[in-house]
Amino acid sequence: MADLWFHEHHVLHSVKFGLNVEEILHTEQTPFQQLAVYRNDTFGVFMTLDGFIQVTERDEFIYHDMICHPALAVNPAIKKVLIIGGGDGGTAREVARYPHIQQIDMVEIDGAVVEACKKYLPSTASVLSNEPRLNLIIGDGLQFVKEAPDGAYDLILVDSTDPAGPGEGLFTVSFYENCYRALAEDGILINQHECAFHALDAEQMQKAHSKIKKVFPIAKVYGFNIPTYATGYWYFGFASKKYDPVAHVKASEWEKFGLTTKYYNTDIHTGAFALPNYVKEVLAKA
Ligand code: SAM
Repeated sequence: MADLWFHEHHVLHSVKFGLNVEEILHTEQTPFQQLAVYRNDTFGVFMTLDGFIQVTERDEFIYHDMICHPALAVNPAIKKVLIIGGGDGGTAREVARYPHIQQIDMVEIDGAVVEACKKYLPSTASVLSNEPRLNLIIGDGLQFVKEAPDGAYDLILVDSTDPAGPGEGLFTVSFYENCYRALAEDGILINQHECAFHALDAEQMQKAHSKIKKVFPIAKVYGFNIPTYATGYWYFGFASKKYDPVAHVKASEWEKFGLTTKYYNTDIHTGAFALPNYVKEVLAKA
């Protein structure tokens, strides 16, 4: 074992999470962020941006199951999908598993992330090279949504970094208003919604929720266990014009897709929206 460690600061000067670095595969200062790819014996290849873990080979299935499948279980008829961010390709890979989906537009601001993941994370990124329905645009998701036609999409998945750096604009009311306009009458928005334990993350969760609630009539939050994210538990937002994610879930229709998933199932779908009291308190202040 090398004595080299990658540390992610969860609370500056107080809490950090470490992964032993067996190999440094790639480091690059892109025009948007500091990109690095390492290998760890337990979590495999992992990619970081500005010092924050984005994806690891070992636990990415959890995040990518939970960003994608809950929306398809609520509206199995989704055909047109927009992914914002998601440069590692994992979200696009899960969306592409639905043969009835006709269009997958993906807007990733940093081409270097796509290239590094195609080279070092083929398990998530190979879909970016071989999926005919995928239209990969290297650009700013904020601008793209602003220019998107009304009602262009059934589902928007915001697989972004945290609300700092290039991802900051993806946590604003105007961005959510543009997503609302670009979504069809039964459209669904899923967004990376931070976590509720450490103060800074809870503040970001609260801010995002208060903005989404201003725009969407239905705005819920659901959680999932992911070992390499701060506190091992992270959340997505589920916003919709029409569907309640629990009351309207079409479990048997989703099961007919016959997808094999390692984390998501329709029981955990319902459970994920049941929140601990401290999380409810954070969201109630929104
Ligand atoms: N799973 C990760 C997480 O939860 O933090 C996110 C995965 S993905 C690597 C996040 C991507 O969002 C990055 O590749 C980043 O370049 C991209 N991104 C950040 N801001 C963006 C923007 N304004 N438009 C498009 N992509 C953006």
